[in-house]
Order: sequence, then C-alpha cells, then structure tokens
Amino acid sequence: MTATLTGGPDLRQARRILTEIPGPRSRDLAERRNAALPAGLASSAGIYVAAAGGGVVVDVDGNSFIDLGSGIAVTTVGNSAPAVVTRASHQLAQYTHTCFLAAPYEPYIEVAERLNALTPGDHEKRTALFSTGAEAVENAVKYARAHTGRDAVVVFDHAFHGRSLLTMTMTAKNQPYKHGFGPFAPEVYRAPMAYPYRWPSGPENCAAEAFGMFTQLVDAQIGADQVACVIVEPIQGEGGFIVPAEGFLPAVAEFCRERGIVFIADEVQSGIARTGAWFASEHEGLVPDLITTAKGLGGGLPLAAVTGRADIMDAAHAGGIGGTYAGNPVACAAALGVFEEIENGGLVERARAIGEVIERELRSIAATTDIVGEIRGRGAMIAVELIEPGTRDPNREAVATLAKHCHDNGVLILTAGTFGNVLRFLPPLSISDELLTEAFGVVRDGFAAL
Ligand SMILES: *Cc1c(COP(=O)(O)O)cnc(C)c1O
Repeated sequence: MTATLTGGPDLRQARRILTEIPGPRSRDLAERRNAALPAGLASSAGIYVAAAGGGVVVDVDGNSFIDLGSGIAVTTVGNSAPAVVTRASHQLAQYTHTCFLAAPYEPYIEVAERLNALTPGDHEKRTALFSTGAEAVENAVKYARAHTGRDAVVVFDHAFHGRSLLTMTMTAKNQPYKHGFGPFAPEVYRAPMAYPYRWPSGPENCAAEAFGMFTQLVDAQIGADQVACVIVEPIQGEGGFIVPAEGFLPAVAEFCRERGIVFIADEVQSGIARTGAWFASEHEGLVPDLITTAKGLGGGLPLAAVTGRADIMDAAHAGGIGGTYAGNPVACAAALGVFEEIENGGLVERARAIGEVIERELRSIAATTDIVGEIRGRGAMIAVELIEPGTRDPNREAVATLAKHCHDNGVLILTAGTFGNVLRFLPPLSISDELLTEAFGVVRDGFAAL
C-alpha cells in the first residue's frame, strides 16, 4: 500500500498507529541501513517515511504521525505543498541544471528579487544563493571579510551555525558537533548569549550585562578594528529556542554599525514565516547588514541564501562566490512556490495562531508538573525547557523519555538545547488546529506518565 501513497495535503490527516513502533518494514530498513551507512549518521525517529503532507508523516508500515518538527523547520509550508510541487515539477521537465556560473536562468533572479524585497530594511540589497545553511553562513563570512578587510568573527554561546569546518567552529556545542573533529578554524571568538532564564544575576539584568561582556570582548580583547562580523541567530535554534533578552540584539547591531562591523542575522532556522513574521529579526525591529536563510526557503529542496547590503555583497570579486549546485533551478522554482504558499495561505498569521495554541497547551501542562523551567519562543517556534524539580538543573532524562513517548504514540517531536533538556515544537504551518491539539494531548499524557 505504501508504494502508491501520495503525499501533500490530500494525505489523510489523522494519527494512526497500526504496528509497534518501529514496525516490521522500518526494522528491515534499519537493518539495511546499519549495514550500508556509517554510525555517525543518527536519526531521532526509528521509523522510515513513505509519504508526508499537511500535518502528518506516514511510515512504511502505514503508521501516521502528527508532525511537530517539519524536518527541522524545513517544510514550513507543508510537505509536498501544492505550489511547490507544481512549480518544481514544471521546472524539472524544462531543465534540471545548467550551473548558474555557466549558463544562468530566470528563477534564480526571481528568488533574489523576492528575498531582497521581503527582508528587513529598504536599502539597496543583493542576494546570492547556495544549497545549505552552512554554505550560506560561510559565504556571509566571506562577504564580511572581503568588505571589511578584517579577519575576526564573533559568535555566541549556544550558537549553531552548521557542520563544515568554519561553521562547526562557530557552533558552540562540543557533542555531537565538534568532538574529535578539530583543529578548528582560526579567528572565531565567542561572547556570552543574553539567555534570560539562565542569566546568573537574573533575567532583569541579562540584556545590559550580556551587552557589557560583548563590548568588552570586542573592544578590549579582539579590537573592534579587527572584527569583520558578528553573527547571531535572532532566536537560537539548536541552542533551545533561546530568545535573547529584549534590547540585547538592537544594542549589538548599533554597536556594530558604529564600528564598521558587519552584523549578520543567521535566520536559517527562524526565517521564512516560521516565527509569525517573515524574519525573526523583525520582532525587535532589527535591520541586519546580511541575513542568511535556508531551511524553510526551498520547501524541502536544498536552497540557501545570503541577502544584504549591496555595498557589502558587491565587495567580493567576480568568480569568488558560487558553487556547482548553488541556486539550482528546481530548488529556485520550489522557493517561488514557498513564497506563493505563504502569501496565498496567510501563513505568517497562521504561524502566530499556531504559536498561541502551543503556548496555551504548554502552560496548561506546566500547571500540572514541577519540571517545566521555561516556555519560550515565537510563532510556530516554541520550546519548553525542563528542569529537576525545585532547581534550575537541566532535566535531560525527562526530555528523552517524553520524546520516546511521543514517537511511540504517533507524534514526531525534536529535542534541543546545549544541555539536551529542551523539547522544541516546529509544526508545519499546514497543520490543522485539530491535529495540533491532539498532538499536545499525547505530550500531556507523556508528562503525566513521568
Ligand atoms: C540548520 C542551521 C544551520 C545549518 O544549516 P545546514 O543546511 O544544516 O547546513 C545554520 N544555522 C542555523 C541557525 C541552523 O538552524
């Protein structure tokens, strides 16, 4: 039956568990996988996918899971969303690749025009396309270095920027991202993040004190005239959906402007309608010099972008930027389908409404337990940080137990956080309220069973 299943919004929207999890067909695939794939590739769910769409993922045994992860914030408009399928299919039949560096094409230009118009700020902008988030971040650093003639890159605690040599260096967390993979890239410096829940002297002091430590690092330790760029996620993704203390990011951006440092917002996870705005930078009125996007941009096809000030982007010499697959035409067509889905479906507003449902559900769960430390995030990017009762000590075991409970009962969720003690919720914006509420019923039962 699974061979003929078609994904997209017409897929039956229901949670349905027919076998033990994982079922026999998934277990067969796991066996083949273990013989064919290296151990370093891990998956959080033990099931194998047959089809997905709307708010569900159906596995090869016919089990139907409610999707609260969107393949890590990628299928924001839903799996196999109609406009994505139509435009990408049309493009597939026309041409699949010519290499933009060799023979260019219109869909690339159209995606660039759309991103230039949608990103914050009405200054003159340019966009360059890539295939992955890490590639976008690496190239944003290249632009900043070419423009400033400086070397240093400043990042923050709890940051995630990718898995390539430069971006894993920029990523904060040792396990699993860096351990044993050094030596790392030079000239990367790390400042404390304004993480209100864990700020030693309390959340009310967080923004000012974190900003003081940041300026100290840049001015006194590195030297501001050595710093090419400061790069920050406006809401930290893998770090556990940390929303920086209000006022911190605008102060950092202003500081950078005064010193000629390129301020880069890494919106690979938070961008493209995820947080109830096109870009999370908008929530605090930030106008970054450069913005990186990826995940939600291609509707599931690999596409990434750097968008920003024309004078910075034009600083790199001709031929210095690019890639064989960068801005692939099928992925560009898919991205145009993503924009269409968001605009025609009112998905920016939908992300806000989904966030309200999730927050309401989590607050009512929090009232029944003493392990909820904090609920935070924006729009359809909400997380809950779990602690040992009566302390602020991370409760990693509860997160692992809850994730397993959800998977076993037909709900796909993701974990996060430097201490592994955060459950994060990133549903596709195509999910119904009904499915969302049902999924949180499963989460609630998981808390009750702890
Ligand atoms: C996922 C992510 C990246 C890396 O993207 P890849 O496509 O996995 O290379 C970079 N930055 C942020 C904020 C991310 O969430």
